[in-house]
Amino acid sequence: MSTHRLPSYLSASADNAWSDFLEQVDRVTPYLGELAHLAESLKWPKRILIVDVPIRMDDGTLAHFEGYRVQHNTSRGPGKGGVRFHQDVTLSEVMALSGWMTVKNAAVGVPYGGAKGGVRVDPTKLSLGELERMTRRYTSEIGLVIGPDKDIPAPDVNTNERIMAWMMDTYSMNSGRTATGVVTGKPISLGGSQGRHGATGRGVFVVSEAAAKKIKLKLKGARVCIQGLGNVGHSAARYFHEAGAKIVAVQDISGTVFNAKGIDIPRLNSTLRIGQTLRDCPGVEAVPNEALWEMACDILVPAALERQITEHNAPKIKARMVVEGANGPTTPAADDILAQKGVLVIPDVLANAGGVTVSYFEWVQDFSSFFWTEEEINRRLDIIMKDAFEAIWKTSESRHVPLRTAAFILACTRILQARHMRGLYP
Ligand code: NAD
Repeated sequence: MSTHRLPSYLSASADNAWSDFLEQVDRVTPYLGELAHLAESLKWPKRILIVDVPIRMDDGTLAHFEGYRVQHNTSRGPGKGGVRFHQDVTLSEVMALSGWMTVKNAAVGVPYGGAKGGVRVDPTKLSLGELERMTRRYTSEIGLVIGPDKDIPAPDVNTNERIMAWMMDTYSMNSGRTATGVVTGKPISLGGSQGRHGATGRGVFVVSEAAAKKIKLKLKGARVCIQGLGNVGHSAARYFHEAGAKIVAVQDISGTVFNAKGIDIPRLNSTLRIGQTLRDCPGVEAVPNEALWEMACDILVPAALERQITEHNAPKIKARMVVEGANGPTTPAADDILAQKGVLVIPDVLANAGGVTVSYFEWVQDFSSFFWTEEEINRRLDIIMKDAFEAIWKTSESRHVPLRTAAFILACTRILQARHMRGLYP
């Protein structure tokens, strides 16, 4: 039966992250062989929950925030994906992020479907008490659909270990037991995993190293530009710095700074730790934000938000590789431009999968109440990232497609095989 008339909230007519995801599904479909007829199911998120999150503000007034939890696909296992607190969060953005989680989890072979959540709020405008009340009420509202074997949230933009601890506690209070496995990215003292905090950045580095070998680029002395210095960008910067690469430019919400000889990353971290901004770091020069995309460099790591590399700035990119720390940072039109220019793009569904991989380790450790050392975590993480990279690289070569399409071919084949074997209920 034809399902071409998608419901209005799934329409690709808008130009947004969800339309990018739909385009990526269209691009992989011709490569899926006899599973191609099931590809349409990837355009239909399984479950979408929109919740009102009312809280009492410190001044006694009542405020309402819009929250979402989207379970895109659960064919291969429970939903899994982060929770984002950001003033620009929309349903279509969360849908796209949940779709990328489905593909990512299958691309690296962790036994999850894909999900994502978000609240449309600027958390920097909330007091600590307001943030806690908002997090707890949101968790309680989505408590209908999450659970250790149903859907497991994790940190994303503007959410962290403390927020995961509140989510775990709220879910546990509502269900009358301590359910550590309901979220990942928790503090170590509450069933969190060693290595989770830096896992996404480590994964970014591991696949960059593997890709650099393929194109004969030496990481020692390589020039790296990074957008976003949060959980992902910060730890990626640290790994690149330790490998002898020169971080020549970084950008965050406060602006962009540059040093042709390489920014002193430990010094930059100390600057940020005491509440100062990038431009307060000694030895850097402030440059306009657009300059980041035009910088002469070898590796460009977008690690902030989606849709940062578009048809407008892609023609100016001089990097040899773009390694997507963020989810969805490159639009399909920009992908085509980069491919024509010979820029290698390591797609998000591979490059930033280190976080969900160690989240998987955390969930497994919580179930068995037996915890691994950081060495063990990193060893297993590196194996999964390297193996996934090699499999995707080989597919890219044998099918003559960019790495993103190759990653989607492997992932969507796994997802749709699972769906095919489960059959259609009833
Ligand atoms: P974060 O909140 O820790 O950090 C976000 C960073 O981006 C901050 O440095 C912020 O200043 C910067 N930023 C925000 N808006 C910006 C803008 N308009 N211009 C420039 N910089 C801006 O978030 P994070 O967890 O590091 O996530 C970053 C990206 O990585 C997101 O796309 C997220 O979905 C993705 N990701 C995160 C994880 C994870 O484990 N945290 C895993 C996989 C993918």
